[in-house]
Amino acid sequence: MPDSPSRRYAAGMRTPQEHLTALLAGLEPLPPVDLPLIVARDCVLAEDVHARWPLPSFANSAMDGYAVRAADVVAATADRPVRLEVIEDIPAGAWPQRQLLPGTAARIMTGAPVPEGADGIVRVEHTDGGMPVVEVCGPAGDDIRRIGEDVADGVVVLTRGALMNPRTIGLAAAVGRDTVRVHPRPRVHLISTGSELVEPGQLPEPGQISDVNGVMLEAALLELGVQVTRSSIVHDDAEVLTQALLQAADASDLVITTGGVSMGAYDTVKAVLTELGSVRFERVAMQPGMPQGWGRIGITATPIITLPGNPVSALVSLEVFVRPALRLLQGRPSGWVTSGSLRAGNAFTSPPGKMQFVRARRETGDDGTALTVGAQGSHILGGLAQADCLLIVPAHTERVATGDTLEFLDLRKDAR
Ligand code: AMP
Ligand code: MG
Repeated sequence: MPDSPSRRYAAGMRTPQEHLTALLAGLEPLPPVDLPLIVARDCVLAEDVHARWPLPSFANSAMDGYAVRAADVVAATADRPVRLEVIEDIPAGAWPQRQLLPGTAARIMTGAPVPEGADGIVRVEHTDGGMPVVEVCGPAGDDIRRIGEDVADGVVVLTRGALMNPRTIGLAAAVGRDTVRVHPRPRVHLISTGSELVEPGQLPEPGQISDVNGVMLEAALLELGVQVTRSSIVHDDAEVLTQALLQAADASDLVITTGGVSMGAYDTVKAVLTELGSVRFERVAMQPGMPQGWGRIGITATPIITLPGNPVSALVSLEVFVRPALRLLQGRPSGWVTSGSLRAGNAFTSPPGKMQFVRARRETGDDGTALTVGAQGSHILGGLAQADCLLIVPAHTERVATGDTLEFLDLRKDAR
């Protein structure tokens, strides 16, 4: 029988790509708003930005020195300096009042407007710096920045879809904008669920553990350029969870929960959301991260994604599903995101029927090889902290040999 792609995945489960496609299909970019440039940082433009004026908007000097008529100083040398009468001093921000006539010069600073009649700048180093007469000992250079040589008047300088970053913010400011129309930062609300959880730093009683997901996922979300709010820990209590979910839905663009979505007796998230809202729970053929849920909640029909509780599962799910979902809300290109491919630096086995996301670390020098780090159980946090990437092992691959090429997800912030 031919080996069709779906047969390579465990029966009764969705493939990770199918799950992501279904999840993204219900989402749209957030409605555009006008935001001050600094607030629009990391946001995607929802308009074309036109230049309100050319850049430069007036001819100005690229040097500190003297504006001259080039013909006057063409023969000037240190031995035979040319003396010119300095008729004006033009600092940046001033506008010249006089026209340069032959035999005259104007002292001029970088960025100051070039006076009428001048067609060259002598750098201050090639003069004696004199006032009201200057001795020029070299020819003039073409250190004049001309109108529109950078940006022509009225042209589109930034197009819809561009990301607002320090460079694009600078350009928008230069052409006269103080606000831009962008898709706003998604407001994401995080809820850690589990009766065993205590706040980090609090001494756990027997049977209790520190809430890892709350602060870890908040940190991961902040790297994605979204606004994050977080409930205090919610125990496995249907009423408290319902209240927390409805409150979160009211004030956010996406609600994310962790825990309580597997097959256990106290899996409250699943129990509550089966009644409330329209959330589907799926088994996704991946490791870690098999139990996944998504849908909408509250009168605002706010999107919700329920992540599994094991911290590694939660973080991998965030990378694989939440990150593309947020990119879509942000108006960025979305879909299955991989960062390219790497070679396995060591051999390892992988479970059949599931796509595996293997914690790994690139070798020094980043030559495209990654070594797996430690055990791959979804509760193993020591190895997670050493990892800087996730190697993606396809469902049909059960053995990876040293040197095999695998796609990967980059976990480093500067790689996003
Ligand atoms: P659950 O999905 O609720 O069945 O949780 C699966 C495993 O993840 C259990 O061992 C939980 O104790 C653990 N877990 C759930 N939530 C968290 C969390 N916020 N921080 C650390 N571990 C958690
Ligand atoms: Mg739980």
